[in-house]
Amino acid sequence: MPLYICATPIGNLEDITFRALRILKEVDIIAAEDTRHTKKLLDHYDIKTPATSYHKFNIKAKTAYLIDLLKAGKNIALVSDSGTPAISDPGCELVQASIEQGIQVVTIPGPSAVIAALSISGLPTDSFSFVGFLPKKPGKRRKALEGLQQAGGTAIIYESPFRLTKTLEAVVEVLGESVPVAVARELTKKFEEVIRGSAREVKEHFLVKAPKGEIVLLIDLEHAAQSGEM
Ligand code: SAM
Repeated sequence: MPLYICATPIGNLEDITFRALRILKEVDIIAAEDTRHTKKLLDHYDIKTPATSYHKFNIKAKTAYLIDLLKAGKNIALVSDSGTPAISDPGCELVQASIEQGIQVVTIPGPSAVIAALSISGLPTDSFSFVGFLPKKPGKRRKALEGLQQAGGTAIIYESPFRLTKTLEAVVEVLGESVPVAVARELTKKFEEVIRGSAREVKEHFLVKAPKGEIVLLIDLEHAAQSGEM
């Protein structure tokens, strides 16, 4: 009756482990953030396991339902639309409820955009803070950036292409124009790229070439502090 937290690709369908494929085949049920989205992955690997939805709008009811199944002896794999469940995706509540009920929780590790982006950013990797998505409101976003100043290391932020230039503008205002940043876009996909430079340079790049696709923004807080702008 374990609950498997199963990482799936963040773009390229080849980025899935042998173990993840075996678990997805063997479990009784797959709980998926979007069953239609996950069907593409399951079809690609000819996996016939039934899937049920588990997303932010049904978390409470579905957590209780899945816990009942686990207690009845079923094996369940949780997947999200991309990467590792529970990382800026549904999953944390189900993991917590399982732990409370004494149900074994097993990780099936694999891709996550946060680590993929950090590993090729060229920014320091020895210490980092994962921030997830910043607040949407400009004032709160600015406050969140101010709060990062003390963190040191590299800050990793999930960002929407529609807000990226505004966020980079806020980075320039709060952390200084020369703070080193990297924008990792469309990782593992056809148009994968990383734009590196000072916050001002990268902001100007995306003002000329509007950002598209999935984006991770990384900020080198260590060197921001050294440049004396913080
Ligand atoms: N659970 C996922 C993980 O482990 O990375 C994250 C899910 S979160 C809802 C989606 C965000 O992750 C996107 O808006 C983007 O910021 C980032 N992301 C996901 N896939 C990406 C990719 N291929 N390239 C760049 N960023 C990506």
